[in-house]
Amino acid sequence: MTATERLLPPGEALDLVFANVTHRLPAEEIDLLEAPGRILSGPLVADRDLPPFPASTMDGFAVIADDVSPWREIIADQFAGDMQDIEVTEGTCARIMTGAPVPKGADAVVPVEKTELRDDHMVADEDEIVEGANIRPIGSDLRKGDVLIEAGTTLGPAEIGLLASLGHARVNVVRRPRVSVLSTGDELVPPDQEPGPGQIRDSNRFSLKAAAESAGCEVIYCGHGPDVEDELRALVTDLMKQSDIVITSGGVSVGDKDLLKTLFMELGSVHFQRLFMKPGKPLNFMTSGETIVFGLPGNPVSALVGFEVFIKTAIRIISGQPNPAPRLATVRLAESVQSSDRIEYMRAVIATDDDGVLWAKTTGPQQSARLMSLVGANGFILIAPRETNYQPDEVVEALITGHVAQGGA
Ligand code: AMP
Ligand code: MG
Repeated sequence: MTATERLLPPGEALDLVFANVTHRLPAEEIDLLEAPGRILSGPLVADRDLPPFPASTMDGFAVIADDVSPWREIIADQFAGDMQDIEVTEGTCARIMTGAPVPKGADAVVPVEKTELRDDHMVADEDEIVEGANIRPIGSDLRKGDVLIEAGTTLGPAEIGLLASLGHARVNVVRRPRVSVLSTGDELVPPDQEPGPGQIRDSNRFSLKAAAESAGCEVIYCGHGPDVEDELRALVTDLMKQSDIVITSGGVSVGDKDLLKTLFMELGSVHFQRLFMKPGKPLNFMTSGETIVFGLPGNPVSALVGFEVFIKTAIRIISGQPNPAPRLATVRLAESVQSSDRIEYMRAVIATDDDGVLWAKTTGPQQSARLMSLVGANGFILIAPRETNYQPDEVVEALITGHVAQGGA
Protein backbone atom coordinates (compact mmCIF):
# COMPACT_ATOMS: atom_id res chain seq x y z
CA MET A 1 0.00 0.00 0.00
CA THR A 2 1.23 3.55 -0.64
CA ALA A 3 1.10 6.42 1.80
CA THR A 4 -1.91 7.88 -0.02
CA GLU A 5 -4.04 4.76 0.50
CA ARG A 6 -3.50 3.57 4.05
CA LEU A 7 -3.99 5.64 7.17
CA LEU A 8 -0.56 7.01 7.91
CA PRO A 9 0.50 7.44 11.55
CA PRO A 10 1.31 11.08 12.32
CA GLY A 11 4.97 10.28 13.00
CA GLU A 12 5.40 8.82 9.53
CA ALA A 13 3.52 11.77 8.07
CA LEU A 14 6.00 14.11 9.77
CA ASP A 15 8.85 12.09 8.23
CA LEU A 16 7.33 12.81 4.82
CA VAL A 17 7.19 16.52 5.63
CA PHE A 18 10.90 16.41 6.45
CA ALA A 19 11.68 14.39 3.33
CA ASN A 20 9.84 16.76 1.01
CA VAL A 21 10.50 20.16 2.56
CA THR A 22 14.24 20.67 2.39
CA HIS A 23 14.69 24.22 1.11
CA ARG A 24 15.28 27.33 3.22
CA LEU A 25 13.76 30.76 2.74
CA PRO A 26 16.12 33.57 1.73
CA ALA A 27 17.40 36.22 4.11
CA GLU A 28 16.42 39.86 4.19
CA GLU A 29 17.95 42.82 5.97
CA ILE A 30 15.70 44.70 8.38
CA ASP A 31 15.96 47.45 10.95
CA LEU A 32 16.84 46.18 14.42
CA LEU A 33 13.69 47.82 15.76
CA GLU A 34 11.63 45.50 13.53
CA ALA A 35 13.51 42.40 14.64
CA PRO A 36 11.58 41.04 17.67
CA GLY A 37 10.30 37.54 16.88
CA ARG A 38 12.23 37.29 13.63
CA ILE A 39 14.72 34.50 12.96
CA LEU A 40 18.43 35.18 12.55
CA SER A 41 19.57 33.96 9.12
CA GLY A 42 23.28 33.55 9.82
CA PRO A 43 25.34 33.22 13.01
CA LEU A 44 26.22 36.39 14.88
CA VAL A 45 29.99 36.45 15.36
CA ALA A 46 31.65 38.98 17.68
CA ASP A 47 33.73 41.37 15.60
CA ARG A 48 35.48 42.83 18.67
CA ASP A 49 36.15 42.22 22.33
CA LEU A 50 33.60 43.46 24.85
CA PRO A 51 34.30 45.45 26.87
CA PRO A 52 36.78 46.93 24.40
CA PHE A 53 38.71 48.53 27.30
CA PRO A 54 39.14 47.52 30.95
CA ALA A 55 36.13 49.11 32.63
CA SER A 56 35.44 50.00 36.23
CA THR A 57 32.46 48.28 37.88
CA MET A 58 32.34 50.82 40.73
CA ASP A 59 32.48 54.49 41.48
CA GLY A 60 35.83 54.84 43.23
CA PHE A 61 39.52 55.34 42.57
CA ALA A 62 41.80 53.64 40.05
CA VAL A 63 45.04 52.66 41.74
CA ILE A 64 48.10 50.45 41.47
CA ALA A 65 47.44 47.48 43.77
CA ASP A 66 51.10 47.02 44.78
CA ASP A 67 51.55 50.68 45.60
CA VAL A 68 52.29 51.02 49.32
CA SER A 69 52.03 54.82 49.47
CA PRO A 70 50.02 55.81 52.57
CA TRP A 71 48.09 58.33 50.52
CA ARG A 72 47.65 58.90 46.82
CA GLU A 73 47.38 62.13 44.89
CA ILE A 74 44.25 62.39 42.72
CA ILE A 75 45.56 63.28 39.27
CA ALA A 76 42.36 63.18 37.18
CA ASP A 77 38.65 62.46 37.04
CA GLN A 78 37.83 59.59 34.70
CA PHE A 79 34.17 59.57 33.60
CA ALA A 80 32.31 56.97 31.56
CA GLY A 81 32.36 57.76 27.86
CA ASP A 82 35.63 59.62 28.14
CA MET A 83 39.20 58.35 27.71
CA GLN A 84 41.76 60.64 29.31
CA ASP A 85 45.38 60.45 28.33
CA ILE A 86 46.72 59.94 31.84
CA GLU A 87 48.79 57.33 33.61
CA VAL A 88 48.42 56.29 37.23
CA THR A 89 51.85 55.94 38.82
CA GLU A 90 53.03 55.13 42.35
CA GLY A 91 51.60 57.62 44.80
CA THR A 92 48.79 58.69 42.45
CA CYS A 93 45.24 57.62 41.60
CA ALA A 94 42.36 58.73 39.40
CA ARG A 95 38.79 59.26 40.47
CA ILE A 96 36.71 56.87 38.30
CA MET A 97 33.02 56.26 37.62
CA THR A 98 31.20 53.00 36.90
CA GLY A 99 31.67 51.99 33.26
CA ALA A 100 34.61 54.33 32.72
CA PRO A 101 37.86 53.05 31.19
CA VAL A 102 40.53 52.25 33.75
CA PRO A 103 43.51 54.55 33.03
CA LYS A 104 46.94 53.29 32.04
CA GLY A 105 49.02 52.05 34.94
CA ALA A 106 46.11 51.29 37.25
CA ASP A 107 45.25 47.65 37.97
CA ALA A 108 42.57 47.93 40.65
CA VAL A 109 39.62 50.10 41.58
CA VAL A 110 38.88 50.81 45.22
CA PRO A 111 35.24 51.68 45.87
CA VAL A 112 34.57 55.19 47.10
CA GLU A 113 32.99 53.84 50.34
CA LYS A 114 36.37 52.36 51.30
CA THR A 115 38.27 55.61 50.98
CA GLU A 116 38.71 58.92 52.69
CA LEU A 117 39.71 62.22 51.16
CA ARG A 118 42.35 64.51 52.60
CA ASP A 119 42.80 67.66 50.52
CA ASP A 120 43.69 66.39 47.02
CA HIS A 121 44.60 62.99 48.30
CA MET A 122 42.90 59.67 48.75
CA VAL A 123 43.55 57.31 51.64
CA ALA A 124 42.22 53.81 51.14
CA ASP A 125 41.51 50.86 53.35
CA GLU A 126 44.51 48.83 52.06
CA ASP A 127 42.70 45.51 52.64
CA GLU A 128 40.28 46.54 49.91
CA ILE A 129 42.95 46.91 47.26
CA VAL A 130 43.45 43.66 45.39
CA GLU A 131 44.86 43.44 41.87
CA GLY A 132 42.04 43.30 39.30
CA ALA A 133 39.38 44.21 41.85
CA ASN A 134 36.29 45.96 40.42
CA ILE A 135 37.61 45.90 36.85
CA ARG A 136 35.96 44.12 33.93
CA PRO A 137 38.95 43.14 31.78
CA ILE A 138 38.98 43.54 27.99
CA GLY A 139 36.97 40.72 26.39
CA SER A 140 35.51 39.46 29.65
CA ASP A 141 31.94 39.65 28.26
CA LEU A 142 32.82 38.30 24.86
CA ARG A 143 35.81 37.64 22.65
CA LYS A 144 36.25 38.61 19.03
CA GLY A 145 35.37 35.57 16.88
CA ASP A 146 32.98 33.99 19.39
CA VAL A 147 29.68 32.72 17.88
CA LEU A 148 27.22 34.65 20.01
CA ILE A 149 23.89 33.68 18.47
CA GLU A 150 23.36 30.65 16.26
CA ALA A 151 21.58 30.95 12.91
CA GLY A 152 17.91 30.00 13.30
CA THR A 153 17.52 31.67 16.69
CA THR A 154 14.32 33.62 17.26
CA LEU A 155 15.32 37.14 18.26
CA GLY A 156 14.11 38.18 21.71
CA PRO A 157 15.05 41.09 23.95
CA ALA A 158 18.45 39.71 24.98
CA GLU A 159 19.55 38.88 21.43
CA ILE A 160 18.37 42.26 20.19
CA GLY A 161 20.24 44.03 22.99
CA LEU A 162 23.37 42.11 22.06
CA LEU A 163 22.97 43.01 18.39
CA ALA A 164 22.62 46.66 19.36
CA SER A 165 25.68 46.53 21.61
CA LEU A 166 27.70 45.15 18.71
CA GLY A 167 26.62 47.93 16.40
CA HIS A 168 24.05 46.08 14.28
CA ALA A 169 21.45 48.73 13.53
CA ARG A 170 20.25 46.39 10.80
CA VAL A 171 20.15 42.62 10.92
CA ASN A 172 19.80 39.76 8.44
CA VAL A 173 16.79 37.61 9.20
CA VAL A 174 14.92 34.85 7.39
CA ARG A 175 12.16 36.24 5.21
CA ARG A 176 8.74 35.52 6.70
CA PRO A 177 6.98 32.58 5.01
CA ARG A 178 4.33 33.93 2.62
CA VAL A 179 1.15 32.09 3.37
CA SER A 180 -2.25 31.94 1.67
CA VAL A 181 -5.32 30.76 3.52
CA LEU A 182 -8.27 29.50 1.48
CA SER A 183 -11.38 28.12 3.09
CA THR A 184 -13.71 26.18 0.84
CA GLY A 185 -17.29 25.02 1.17
CA ASP A 186 -20.57 26.33 -0.23
CA GLU A 187 -22.17 26.16 3.19
CA LEU A 188 -19.95 28.90 4.63
CA VAL A 189 -20.90 32.49 5.28
CA PRO A 190 -18.69 35.26 6.67
CA PRO A 191 -18.93 36.12 10.38
CA ASP A 192 -20.95 39.26 9.75
CA GLN A 193 -23.73 37.30 8.03
CA GLU A 194 -26.57 35.41 9.66
CA PRO A 195 -26.30 31.79 8.43
CA GLY A 196 -29.32 30.61 6.44
CA PRO A 197 -30.73 27.09 6.65
CA GLY A 198 -27.86 24.59 6.39
CA GLN A 199 -25.22 27.29 6.45
CA ILE A 200 -22.51 27.87 9.03
CA ARG A 201 -20.05 30.64 9.64
CA ASP A 202 -16.56 30.32 8.19
CA SER A 203 -14.27 30.15 11.19
CA ASN A 204 -11.25 28.41 9.64
CA ARG A 205 -10.29 31.33 7.46
CA PHE A 206 -9.88 33.43 10.59
CA SER A 207 -8.40 30.84 12.92
CA LEU A 208 -5.84 29.69 10.33
CA LYS A 209 -4.82 33.25 9.50
CA ALA A 210 -4.32 33.83 13.22
CA ALA A 211 -2.33 30.60 13.52
CA ALA A 212 -0.10 31.52 10.57
CA GLU A 213 0.56 35.00 11.89
CA SER A 214 1.27 33.68 15.39
CA ALA A 215 3.82 31.35 13.80
CA GLY A 216 5.63 34.30 12.22
CA CYS A 217 4.17 34.12 8.70
CA GLU A 218 3.04 36.91 6.43
CA VAL A 219 -0.49 36.09 5.30
CA ILE A 220 -0.71 37.41 1.74
CA TYR A 221 -4.17 36.05 0.95
CA CYS A 222 -7.07 35.04 3.14
CA GLY A 223 -10.23 34.19 1.24
CA HIS A 224 -13.03 31.77 0.57
CA GLY A 225 -13.59 29.59 -2.49
CA PRO A 226 -16.73 27.80 -3.71
CA ASP A 227 -17.09 24.06 -4.24
CA VAL A 228 -16.67 24.56 -7.98
CA GLU A 229 -13.82 22.68 -9.59
CA ASP A 230 -12.67 25.20 -12.21
CA GLU A 231 -12.79 28.09 -9.80
CA LEU A 232 -10.85 26.18 -7.16
CA ARG A 233 -8.26 25.10 -9.73
CA ALA A 234 -7.73 28.69 -10.86
CA LEU A 235 -7.57 29.96 -7.28
CA VAL A 236 -5.20 27.34 -5.94
CA THR A 237 -2.94 27.57 -9.02
CA ASP A 238 -2.69 31.31 -8.59
CA LEU A 239 -2.05 31.10 -4.83
CA MET A 240 0.66 28.49 -5.37
CA LYS A 241 2.53 30.94 -7.61
CA GLN A 242 2.65 33.65 -4.94
CA SER A 243 3.01 31.64 -1.74
CA ASP A 244 5.57 29.62 0.13
CA ILE A 245 2.72 27.73 1.78
CA VAL A 246 -0.90 27.40 0.65
CA ILE A 247 -3.32 26.29 3.35
CA THR A 248 -6.79 25.19 2.36
CA SER A 249 -9.59 23.98 4.57
CA GLY A 250 -12.42 21.67 3.64
CA GLY A 251 -13.00 19.58 0.55
CA VAL A 252 -10.59 16.78 1.33
CA SER A 253 -12.81 13.97 2.59
CA VAL A 254 -14.88 11.62 0.45
CA GLY A 255 -18.03 13.66 -0.26
CA ASP A 256 -19.08 14.46 -3.83
CA LYS A 257 -18.02 18.05 -3.43
CA ASP A 258 -14.64 17.24 -1.91
CA LEU A 259 -12.81 18.55 -4.93
CA LEU A 260 -9.48 19.64 -3.50
CA LYS A 261 -8.30 16.12 -2.87
CA THR A 262 -8.25 15.30 -6.59
CA LEU A 263 -7.13 18.76 -7.57
CA PHE A 264 -3.99 18.38 -5.45
CA MET A 265 -3.03 15.23 -7.38
CA GLU A 266 -3.24 17.28 -10.56
CA LEU A 267 -1.27 20.28 -9.29
CA GLY A 268 1.74 18.67 -7.60
CA SER A 269 3.17 15.64 -5.81
CA VAL A 270 0.85 14.43 -3.08
CA HIS A 271 2.73 12.85 -0.17
CA PHE A 272 -0.17 11.90 2.08
CA GLN A 273 -3.93 12.31 2.19
CA ARG A 274 -5.24 10.18 5.04
CA LEU A 275 -3.84 9.96 8.53
CA PHE A 276 -4.17 7.56 11.42
CA MET A 277 -5.02 10.56 13.52
CA LYS A 278 -8.01 12.07 15.26
CA PRO A 279 -9.03 14.74 14.58
CA GLY A 280 -7.62 15.23 11.12
CA LYS A 281 -7.90 11.96 9.20
CA PRO A 282 -8.32 13.59 5.77
CA LEU A 283 -5.24 15.82 5.84
CA ASN A 284 -3.44 16.45 2.55
CA PHE A 285 0.19 17.35 2.00
CA MET A 286 1.40 18.23 -1.47
CA THR A 287 4.45 20.00 -2.89
CA SER A 288 5.30 21.46 -6.26
CA GLY A 289 8.89 22.64 -6.49
CA GLU A 290 9.40 24.73 -3.37
CA THR A 291 5.70 25.44 -2.93
CA ILE A 292 4.07 23.63 -0.03
CA VAL A 293 0.35 22.91 0.10
CA PHE A 294 -1.57 21.63 3.09
CA GLY A 295 -5.20 20.68 2.55
CA LEU A 296 -6.70 20.65 6.01
CA PRO A 297 -10.04 19.09 6.88
CA GLY A 298 -12.95 21.46 7.29
CA ASN A 299 -13.76 20.73 10.88
CA PRO A 300 -12.44 23.68 12.85
CA VAL A 301 -10.55 21.66 15.45
CA SER A 302 -9.10 19.27 12.86
CA ALA A 303 -7.81 22.24 10.89
CA LEU A 304 -6.04 23.82 13.85
CA VAL A 305 -4.60 20.54 15.14
CA GLY A 306 -3.26 19.85 11.64
CA PHE A 307 -1.74 23.30 11.58
CA GLU A 308 -0.05 22.81 14.94
CA VAL A 309 1.45 19.44 14.09
CA PHE A 310 2.36 19.64 10.40
CA ILE A 311 2.26 23.21 9.13
CA LYS A 312 4.24 24.61 12.04
CA THR A 313 6.86 21.95 11.43
CA ALA A 314 7.13 22.98 7.77
CA ILE A 315 7.36 26.64 8.81
CA ARG A 316 10.20 25.85 11.20
CA ILE A 317 12.03 23.85 8.52
CA ILE A 318 11.93 26.53 5.82
CA SER A 319 12.81 29.19 8.40
CA GLY A 320 15.93 27.26 9.41
CA GLN A 321 14.85 26.92 13.03
CA PRO A 322 16.54 24.28 15.17
CA ASN A 323 14.50 21.20 16.19
CA PRO A 324 11.63 21.72 13.73
CA ALA A 325 9.65 18.65 14.78
CA PRO A 326 6.92 19.08 17.40
CA ARG A 327 8.52 18.44 20.76
CA LEU A 328 6.73 15.94 22.95
CA ALA A 329 6.75 15.91 26.74
CA THR A 330 5.46 13.27 29.10
CA VAL A 331 2.55 14.12 31.34
CA ARG A 332 0.39 12.33 33.87
CA LEU A 333 -3.32 11.96 33.32
CA ALA A 334 -5.45 13.62 35.97
CA GLU A 335 -8.50 11.63 34.89
CA SER A 336 -9.37 8.45 33.08
CA VAL A 337 -9.49 8.69 29.28
CA GLN A 338 -11.04 6.48 26.66
CA SER A 339 -9.13 5.94 23.43
CA SER A 340 -10.62 5.82 19.94
CA ASP A 341 -9.72 3.97 16.73
CA ARG A 342 -6.90 6.38 15.79
CA ILE A 343 -4.18 8.26 17.68
CA GLU A 344 -6.19 11.02 19.24
CA TYR A 345 -4.80 14.49 19.89
CA MET A 346 -7.02 15.33 22.83
CA ARG A 347 -7.09 18.96 23.80
CA ALA A 348 -5.95 19.39 27.34
CA VAL A 349 -5.03 21.78 30.10
CA ILE A 350 -1.53 20.90 31.25
CA ALA A 351 -0.11 22.31 34.48
CA THR A 352 2.62 21.41 36.94
CA ASP A 353 2.03 20.46 40.55
CA ASP A 354 4.20 21.68 43.44
CA ASP A 355 6.83 19.02 42.63
CA GLY A 356 7.09 20.16 39.01
CA VAL A 357 5.24 17.10 37.65
CA LEU A 358 3.11 17.82 34.57
CA TRP A 359 -0.55 16.82 34.81
CA ALA A 360 -3.13 16.87 32.02
CA LYS A 361 -6.88 17.15 32.07
CA THR A 362 -8.95 17.13 28.87
CA THR A 363 -11.09 20.11 27.96
CA GLY A 364 -14.33 18.13 27.90
CA PRO A 365 -16.10 16.71 24.84
CA GLN A 366 -13.59 16.25 22.03
CA GLN A 367 -15.68 16.42 18.85
CA SER A 368 -13.72 17.84 15.94
CA ALA A 369 -16.30 20.54 15.28
CA ARG A 370 -16.23 21.78 18.88
CA LEU A 371 -13.85 24.72 18.97
CA MET A 372 -14.53 25.02 22.68
CA SER A 373 -12.33 21.95 23.11
CA LEU A 374 -9.39 24.11 21.97
CA VAL A 375 -10.31 27.31 23.77
CA GLY A 376 -8.22 27.42 26.94
CA ALA A 377 -6.21 24.32 26.03
CA ASN A 378 -2.43 24.60 26.22
CA GLY A 379 -1.61 21.31 24.57
CA PHE A 380 -2.68 17.94 23.28
CA ILE A 381 -2.32 14.57 24.92
CA LEU A 382 -1.62 11.77 22.46
CA ILE A 383 -3.92 8.86 23.15
CA ALA A 384 -3.16 5.73 21.11
CA PRO A 385 -5.91 3.15 20.50
CA ARG A 386 -6.14 0.37 23.08
CA GLU A 387 -8.72 -1.96 24.59
CA THR A 388 -8.75 -0.58 28.12
CA ASN A 389 -9.22 2.94 29.38
CA TYR A 390 -6.24 5.06 30.29
CA GLN A 391 -6.21 5.45 34.06
CA PRO A 392 -5.59 8.50 36.26
CA ASP A 393 -1.82 8.79 37.00
CA GLU A 394 -0.86 7.07 33.76
CA VAL A 395 1.96 8.68 31.81
CA VAL A 396 1.23 9.69 28.21
CA GLU A 397 2.94 11.86 25.60
CA ALA A 398 1.81 15.43 25.12
CA LEU A 399 2.43 18.25 22.69
CA ILE A 400 2.57 21.43 24.72
CA THR A 401 1.51 24.47 22.73
CA GLY A 402 1.09 27.20 25.32
CA HIS A 403 2.18 28.52 28.66
CA VAL A 404 2.23 25.95 31.45
CA ALA A 405 0.91 27.26 34.72
CA GLN A 406 1.99 26.13 38.16
CA GLY A 407 -0.87 24.33 39.91
CA GLY A 408 -4.44 23.85 38.73
CA ALA A 409 -4.09 20.47 37.00
P1 AMP B 1 -15.27 19.15 4.88
O1 AMP B 1 -13.86 18.87 5.27
O2 AMP B 1 -15.39 20.15 3.77
O3 AMP B 1 -16.03 17.89 4.60
O4 AMP B 1 -15.95 19.82 6.13
C1 AMP B 1 -16.08 19.12 7.35
C2 AMP B 1 -16.92 19.92 8.30
O5 AMP B 1 -16.27 21.13 8.66
C3 AMP B 1 -18.27 20.31 7.76
O6 AMP B 1 -19.22 20.23 8.81
C4 AMP B 1 -18.08 21.74 7.35
O7 AMP B 1 -19.27 22.46 7.34
C5 AMP B 1 -17.11 22.24 8.38
N1 AMP B 1 -16.29 23.30 7.82
C6 AMP B 1 -15.67 23.27 6.63
N2 AMP B 1 -14.99 24.40 6.41
C7 AMP B 1 -15.18 25.19 7.51
C8 AMP B 1 -14.75 26.49 7.86
N3 AMP B 1 -13.97 27.22 7.07
N4 AMP B 1 -15.13 26.99 9.06
C9 AMP B 1 -15.92 26.26 9.86
N5 AMP B 1 -16.37 25.02 9.58
C10 AMP B 1 -16.02 24.48 8.39
MG1 MG C 1 -16.76 20.90 2.40
